[in-house]
Amino acid sequence: MTESGTPETTHAAEEREARAIRFADLTTLRVGGPVARLVTATTPDELVELVHEAEASGEPWMVLGGGSNVLVGDDGFDGTVIRIATRGIDVRPGDEDGTVHLRVQAGENWDELVAFTVERGFAGLEALAGIPGSVGASPVQNIGAYGQELSSALLGIEFLGEGESEPRVMSADELELGYRTSVLKQGLRGVVVSVDLVLHDTTAEREVLGEALGTPVAYAQLANALGVQLGDRVPLARVREAVLALRAGKGMVLDPDDVDSVSAGSFFTNPIVPERVARTLPGDAPRWYVEPEEPDEVTPLAELAAESPLDAFLAHQAELEQVEEHASDGASTPPLVKLSAAWLIERSGIHRGFALPGSRAGISTKHTLALTNRGGASAEEVAQLARFVQQRVQAEFGIVLHPEPTVVGVEL
Ligand SMILES: Cc1cc2nc3c(=O)[nH]c(=O)nc-3n(C[C@H](O)[C@H](O)[C@H](O)COP(=O)(O)OP(=O)(O)OC[C@H]3O[C@@H](n4cnc5c(N)ncnc54)[C@H](O)[C@@H]3O)c2cc1C
Repeated sequence: MTESGTPETTHAAEEREARAIRFADLTTLRVGGPVARLVTATTPDELVELVHEAEASGEPWMVLGGGSNVLVGDDGFDGTVIRIATRGIDVRPGDEDGTVHLRVQAGENWDELVAFTVERGFAGLEALAGIPGSVGASPVQNIGAYGQELSSALLGIEFLGEGESEPRVMSADELELGYRTSVLKQGLRGVVVSVDLVLHDTTAEREVLGEALGTPVAYAQLANALGVQLGDRVPLARVREAVLALRAGKGMVLDPDDVDSVSAGSFFTNPIVPERVARTLPGDAPRWYVEPEEPDEVTPLAELAAESPLDAFLAHQAELEQVEEHASDGASTPPLVKLSAAWLIERSGIHRGFALPGSRAGISTKHTLALTNRGGASAEEVAQLARFVQQRVQAEFGIVLHPEPTVVGVEL
């Protein structure tokens, strides 16, 4: 009830509540300033309505799922935050024998969805157990871990684009999913209303084999933990448990008792560089050949040492143009190599548990890729640490690390 005794609408109540709410309360990094207006959608229709209302207001707006992949600044967000809490998993037989289709509403919890599929003997998501956050955010950066990626199971999404009146279906192809990226991450504005998946239904197989096997194990560390060879198939529940145990050992599952999990997961993506750049690194630098993608920015070390900033700039432009020429040259596209951001960070002298003097943000004690809030850190402290890591790696190797989370109101 309001002070005058009239009933308060849900939205008004939420706005009032939002005055006291900060992104620190809504995100796994537990940093970030006030939310000007917070609304929550619990049904797909309500979600569409709230997006339309936010657009009509002319104010900025953003959507938030579990808040596990965002870094919002200490000034917060002067607009509407639409929190997605829609629920529902619809299971239908797939078009091909041995497959099953799932339509999952955006607000479902990702890890609970994985548990749901494993319990029913549906294979395809088991190695993605333990990733925090919502189903709706999963296509945004094409979540992946332990040899599986969303892209291998994604048929498409229901998507409400900015300025559109109704959600439409977008195929997985249209989303241009890549390593921790998609058109959504690259700037296509709108909201994922639901996600369509195709999984392997092991029911028939189970009658013969007696157990529900996952897809072939595709990650060496997971194969080791399971005591099997790469390519072997292992019962779904065992894969899920092994992944959860591996993740817990790295602080990569949310655990209220583990300060190393007060993070946004891996803070930097693994850089993708032309092979000739990778060749300049020490022989023990981990590297993987990848399909052609846009290479990350590289500053040759000689240029960093150049006396004139203009010379360095011009030389850098020439270098990038060369890469682009090769890239547009079809057959002669230079091979691209993915490097380990964790290795680059460690070799630039930053170790697990590192913190800048007096800062409450620190590198996880279990994993150099996770930037953590050790207790009461500000967003600026996290950003300072991120910039320090970027500068160290660039000074040492000439490679620019890019943040994986969505960054709002923070300079990186
Ligand atoms: C401990 C830990 C471990 C992690 N491990 C992994 C991992 O192994 N692999 C991996 O890929 N990621 C990992 N992450 C990152 C994160 O869990 C995923 O990116 C997850 O998909 C984010 O979901 P969310 O709902 O929390 O998204 P949020 O943080 O709420 O949002 C992230 C971005 O997606 C947008 N967004 C959210 N929902 C929607 C929607 N419905 N429609 C359109 N845009 C939307 C937001 O606006 C924002 O830009 C980890 C994070 C943590 C904290």
